[in-house]
Amino acid sequence: MFPDAKAELYFENDFQLLIAVLMSAQTTDKQVNKVNSEFFKFLKKPEDWIKIWVEKIENFIKTIWFFRTKAKNIFKTCEILSKKSLDKFKNISDLTQLPWVWVKTAKVFLSVARGEQFLAVDTHVHRVLNRLWIVSTKLAEETDKIAEKIFTKADLWILHHWLIFFGRYHCLARNPKCEKCPLKNDCKFFKNKK
Ligand code: SF4
Repeated sequence: MFPDAKAELYFENDFQLLIAVLMSAQTTDKQVNKVNSEFFKFLKKPEDWIKIWVEKIENFIKTIWFFRTKAKNIFKTCEILSKKSLDKFKNISDLTQLPWVWVKTAKVFLSVARGEQFLAVDTHVHRVLNRLWIVSTKLAEETDKIAEKIFTKADLWILHHWLIFFGRYHCLARNPKCEKCPLKNDCKFFKNKK
């Protein structure tokens, strides 16, 4: 259904990708892109932190959730990465040492920036896998612990994008498009709805 599925966040380099993923927590990619199309003219590389301050970042990103916390952590991240190159952060354990970078953030970054095989579980992936009864979990964190073991490792990178697009544009949280869904005969949610 979504052969061209890919990351929808706006960024021009790996550093901006990391910042964009960090900003996307609890916020739609669309909203983050709207902010970053201006913000990233100003923040192109970690060293730019020297000419910025937290309040200025807050002002740029004030329309997104948790903007104060995110601004503070963007500032700290820039400061760290201006001293130690992002290339030196090789894996999940390295990346999660950065402020506000969780396992999911690290997986998205490694998958999109470096083409590594991870299935980062966000709200869409969690919902879709549960509706299809591929997992039966309450929290996204629980889904994250088992999802990568269910699928073939070589498929994880693209599966991540397929599941996000499927959840974002078809199997919506409210009003999923069940009647024209090719998976409805296998869907627990659809069967229970009837
Ligand atoms: S049938 Fe509905 S709930 Fe089930 S996967 Fe398709 S769109 Fe989602």
